[in-house]
Amino acid sequence: MKIVSTIEEVRNQVKAWRKEGCTIGFVPTMGYLHEGHMSLIDAAGENDKVVVSIFVNPMQFGPNEDLASYPRDLDHDAKLCEEHGVDLIFHPTPEEMYGDSFYAYVDMNTLTQELCGLSRPVHFRGVCTVVAKLFNIVTPDKAYFGQKDAQQLAIIKRMVKDLNMPLTIVGCPIIREEDGLAKSSRNTYLSPEERKAALVLSRSIFLGREMAEKGERDCEKIIAAMTAEIEKEPLAKIDYVKIVDLETMQQVKKIEGGILAAIAVYIGKTRLIDNFMYETEA
Ligand code: AMP
Repeated sequence: MKIVSTIEEVRNQVKAWRKEGCTIGFVPTMGYLHEGHMSLIDAAGENDKVVVSIFVNPMQFGPNEDLASYPRDLDHDAKLCEEHGVDLIFHPTPEEMYGDSFYAYVDMNTLTQELCGLSRPVHFRGVCTVVAKLFNIVTPDKAYFGQKDAQQLAIIKRMVKDLNMPLTIVGCPIIREEDGLAKSSRNTYLSPEERKAALVLSRSIFLGREMAEKGERDCEKIIAAMTAEIEKEPLAKIDYVKIVDLETMQQVKKIEGGILAAIAVYIGKTRLIDNFMYETEA
């Protein structure tokens, strides 16, 4: 496994692989890897070569967010990648990615204005811009994203479609801790007491999913039940509990077709997200 930090090194490696006729799978991450990331890397193993990027992208953090404190551990990440058969880690600096000045943005418009986009107004513009850059650098056949960040996955799929990017986006299921909490690099911020309190997220998600599966179609009722579950926990503060259309990311009143039920909840100072998707039969 190689670890490189320049765009040129990635391009040279990819060129050599293409000459050999290899297919390339790509997993973009911000590092501090856990089983959630590893499930994407394992899925990418269906390609001849697997590239992982590890880059805490400043452009997707707002001014009061956790860019400086975001956890980083390249040695640990490299060891995990090696064990899971990764061929190349791309670990650029912000200067390598953005130089001294930078003008381009990929803006996905109304898709980025609901859910996490409301409290994180520049987030998805930063995600789409860096992912578009990484796609242009790595030129993968397939790229793998987790349903843990369901809005991100939907937006990236749409960006690829709208801009005719020549690759396939593969969505992978949410990996959870044994007690239900969705794995996240940000879980390391939680104190033992907060870690217990954080279980309200998955409890609320499982409750909402069960209601939908049992035939409830009234979003207001599902949202009320999910909200009440979270409010039982004194350390939890709701950012949002919403149900949106999977395609438009706009709120819906009734479950019809594909929906995304998504929550963002502060546990102490840590903002965590979780979700479920549901599709009614046509
Ligand atoms: P991040 O490093 O947080 O930017 O995440 C990189 C990729 O890993 C994204 O596509 C995430 O959706 C995915 N990911 C993070 N946590 C999980 C999880 N618990 N289950 C599945 N995928 C995940």
